[in-house]
Amino acid sequence: MQEKLTEIFGRDVFNESVMKERLPKETFRALMKTIESGEDLDPNVANIVANAMKDWAIERGATHYTHWFQPMTGITAEKHDSFITPVSGGKVLMEFSGKELIKGEPDASSFPSGGLRATFEARGYTAWDCTSPAFLREDAAGVTLCIPTAFCSYTGEALDKKTPLLRSMEALSTQVVRILKLFGHKDVTSVSCSVGAEQEYFLIDREKYLQREDLVFTGRTLFGAMPPKGQELEDHYFGSIKERIASFMRELNIELWKLGILAKTQHNEAAPAQHEIAPIYSTANIASDHNQLIMDTMKKVAMRHGLACLLHEKPFAGVNGSGKHNNWSLVTNTGKNLLEPGKTPHENIQFLLFLSAILKAVDEHADLLRMSASCPGNDHRLGANEAPPAIISIFLGDQLADVVSQLIETGEAKHSKQGGKLSTGVHTLPKLRKDATDRNRTSPFAFTGNKFEFRTLGSSMSIAGANTVLNTIVADALSDIADEIETASDFDMCVHDLIKRTVTQHQRIIFNGNGYAKEWLEEAKWRGLPNLETMVDAIPCITDEKVIQMFEKFGVYNSAELNSRAEINYEAYSKAIHIEAKTMIEMASKKYIPAIITYTKNLADSINAVKAAVPEADSSVQVNLLKEVSTLLTKTNEALNNLKEKSAQALKKEAGKEQAEFFKDEVVAAMAALRSPVDELEMLVDKNVWPVPTYGDLLFEV
Ligand code: ADP
Ligand code: MG
Repeated sequence: MQEKLTEIFGRDVFNESVMKERLPKETFRALMKTIESGEDLDPNVANIVANAMKDWAIERGATHYTHWFQPMTGITAEKHDSFITPVSGGKVLMEFSGKELIKGEPDASSFPSGGLRATFEARGYTAWDCTSPAFLREDAAGVTLCIPTAFCSYTGEALDKKTPLLRSMEALSTQVVRILKLFGHKDVTSVSCSVGAEQEYFLIDREKYLQREDLVFTGRTLFGAMPPKGQELEDHYFGSIKERIASFMRELNIELWKLGILAKTQHNEAAPAQHEIAPIYSTANIASDHNQLIMDTMKKVAMRHGLACLLHEKPFAGVNGSGKHNNWSLVTNTGKNLLEPGKTPHENIQFLLFLSAILKAVDEHADLLRMSASCPGNDHRLGANEAPPAIISIFLGDQLADVVSQLIETGEAKHSKQGGKLSTGVHTLPKLRKDATDRNRTSPFAFTGNKFEFRTLGSSMSIAGANTVLNTIVADALSDIADEIETASDFDMCVHDLIKRTVTQHQRIIFNGNGYAKEWLEEAKWRGLPNLETMVDAIPCITDEKVIQMFEKFGVYNSAELNSRAEINYEAYSKAIHIEAKTMIEMASKKYIPAIITYTKNLADSINAVKAAVPEADSSVQVNLLKEVSTLLTKTNEALNNLKEKSAQALKKEAGKEQAEFFKDEVVAAMAALRSPVDELEMLVDKNVWPVPTYGDLLFEV
């Protein structure tokens, strides 16, 4: 690297230190007040900030600005405007006003709104989110000033993923502060949730990627036989990183550092061609913005290296899919992590109270959490023996599980298990201190030292939805708890009883065993934990009366917003499966079947040629192969016709739940039935006539 990391870090961000340097003292102070304590923004302040922001951006070559927002597609959107304003003499000036900074009005009619806004009343507004810093993006379009914004309708309903997240953060902060006041922490005025999202992805050769319509149109392979080698040797996980991938990672890190993103960890993942990147955690809304930027930047940088970055949850059948681990904790404005148990958690009553609240929240709303991690791609991972199962449970680890059992059994926890020293049997190795708890890789919701790790999210998803749910359900549990303590006469007794009662009532959500085991399915059923296998099964819970009441109570979503999200989800599911079905139909009709016909002709020609040349020669190999291939070809054609018919039937269903269910039950099955004979044929047919790159080509030739 030519320049020092410390110098490039945050170079393209209009961050606190740039603002301090460029804004008049008064303006800076007023803006920081809004950012830190949520006070209303003065329009005069906005004007001064806009001007400073523009000057800074133009000095760095920016010609355009854009309000950067996160509509319900789950990705980001932008509409660029240049800074030019005409002046006399046919000249232009570069201008940018406070009004333009604060409010934008993209024509919003083509974003999913789930009925919140009919297309004839297309007004949608973007509003500056000053808590997330503006930044510059440099690409083929030049340099653009990107202003993070929230996106809402004319009537104020959230049309995006960010607004509800910001609302949930406020709700959570209020409830946590209430509890902390009761514990005597008068100095704490706000609490934020910290989030670190680990991102898994695949990198494959772009030339080969472009030859596969399924990857191009759907992000995953819809056909493909397993190569002789998959991930069984476990030699890719944490393996040495190939040069081409390393050079991608290097450039990715530099791009991210410029954007002020704390890119920290990178390694190879379990499947061949699979990798992971994790930044250092930050406040949830910033972590959410940053995760979007990471995904976007990965795609762009991959292209520059002749690679394609796959963010789909299951690009390849038969090897691991990709997830996103959402590490979450609660941090006070005085810098304390409330999920830090200390060395002796049994004595840390405040921690145990927060822990109880989280157990209650996750147990009462396991279905909502499952829903928050749902997308069509993730259906292939959850419950498919690799990622966490679709059943939500909490892993506490030995130490906390032991404290909780003491509480349940005797009403009092008297000791905490300690980790001790790690003995390797080699005297020259340092004596390491062991953690009190081992790790568990199969739990969907695991306590990992001083944070919870929600591991169910899919790799392509925005983390905003899951954190919105997590924040709100924890706020709800804390609010019930605060109600009780505030009216109690004896604080100590009340907290003690509350902890014991809550952990006892919700102990069924704790599971420290193997989440992949078959027995867990039975056990979870016996415990009454929901097992929502697919996205379509999970959607209805967001419009449950009690759920609506909860979200309304905390001002996170109103009933219309929730109903619209249910509708959008059904629609998104149906559309995704429909595109997959159409892609399969296209590939089978135009690629596989013609290739197989060519191959059968080659075989038939060969049989005839052999017979003509040497009538008594044995041509049974060709004959048998021809028979086998022809039978599979017939099967392929039947399955293709069936898929066409089922897709046509699906389109006749009423849009929404009914249609999504038909796609899930009928079309998905018809797709599997078409894939099967084609994959069998791939193992029989001459590679030279096979029309697309195989799994072996895609996964191992990077
Ligand atoms: P692992 O793969 O072992 O789970 P990583 O180091 O890959 O761990 O990722 C852990 C993630 O958790 C990182 O993004 C890290 O910044 C984040 N993290 C660490 N501590 C906290 C915390 N207190 N709150 C939220 N996130 C955290
Ligand atoms: Mg992890």
